[in-house]
Amino acid sequence: MAMELYSNPEFPRQVWQPRTIVEAWQLKQQFAEQAVFVSGGTLLRTQWESGALLPPQHLISLESLPELHGIQSDQQETRIGSAVTLAACLRDLRTPALLKNACLNIAAPSIRNMGTLGGNIMSTVGDSLPALLATDARLVWFNGQNMITQTTAEWLQQRRAALLTKEPRLLLQIIVPRIAATDGFVDSFYEKLGRREAFCPSVVTIAGELHTDTENNIRSIRLAAGSAASMAMRLTDAEALLEGQQLSLRLIEYTHPLIKQQFNGGADAFASNEYRRQAAANMIAAALWSRISSQNR
Ligand SMILES: Cc1cc2nc3c(=O)[nH]c(=O)nc-3n(C[C@H](O)[C@H](O)[C@H](O)COP(=O)(O)OP(=O)(O)OC[C@H]3O[C@@H](n4cnc5c(N)ncnc54)[C@H](O)[C@@H]3O)c2cc1C
Repeated sequence: MAMELYSNPEFPRQVWQPRTIVEAWQLKQQFAEQAVFVSGGTLLRTQWESGALLPPQHLISLESLPELHGIQSDQQETRIGSAVTLAACLRDLRTPALLKNACLNIAAPSIRNMGTLGGNIMSTVGDSLPALLATDARLVWFNGQNMITQTTAEWLQQRRAALLTKEPRLLLQIIVPRIAATDGFVDSFYEKLGRREAFCPSVVTIAGELHTDTENNIRSIRLAAGSAASMAMRLTDAEALLEGQQLSLRLIEYTHPLIKQQFNGGADAFASNEYRRQAAANMIAAALWSRISSQNR
């Protein structure tokens, strides 16, 4: 194998540097629970330092896997390697606007220089996830034999259904489709509510992408919400109500309770689920309201 093995007497762990995704996969199979994939290591390090997780004996670095790097874009979609850092996503002109907005709201610049989009997704509560749901992004996985593509929504649904099951696959790429708006407008919004202005975990994060015509009729809409205490989810009840309708104050009034009912924001020491539901509904209602022309308000 072309991979390298590093050892450091001050950190008695073995750090593997596979050169291919097959090598990375085989190492994980060989060492199983004694090994972990490491991208930027920003989340893992926090978990190890806080004692939430014990550092395993083998760390499998994803740094040298070409499939996990780079951003490519064409008319249909943008493909982002899972090991692309949040800072690189922010810098790159090809990163979709909604995802860029999400990256800007994650941690501080020093963490964004190390932390990756893949690591953020794999945390299952990362602030990129509402943006990826709202853009209907797809995730490309490697399961040791094949590459498998599934939507972010499908994956999160699976993770929610089997809450204790770990994801064994290697995340290779994130594909964000482009909406071809030959007529009308494509618009998006993203907002994170924290306990202070910046650099803190999300109380609620919301995102939306909508395609409207010149009369402000909604052709299609995707809405999503998440928090640091729960996996992000699509708000399909509100989407179904809004689709095909003209955006109006009355419509938003009907939408608000549907969001509150469907969103599960989770609870922790800082905010109850009820508070997060209310906040998500208010934030999305405000984002939609700001898109109604002033004479229709
Ligand atoms: C001070 C601080 C502030 C933070 N603020 C925020 C915030 O505001 N919002 C937010 O969302 N997060 C925040 N985080 C969490 C974290 O930094 C980010 O989620 C970051 O994007 C994680 O990426 P990483 O590459 O460092 O992941 P890692 O720590 O390398 O990995 C995280 C998890 O993903 C797995 N993994 C990584 N890459 C892959 C892959 N390609 N395939 C399969 N599994 C993989 C790892 O095994 C591990 O379980 C913060 C962290 C710190 C320390």
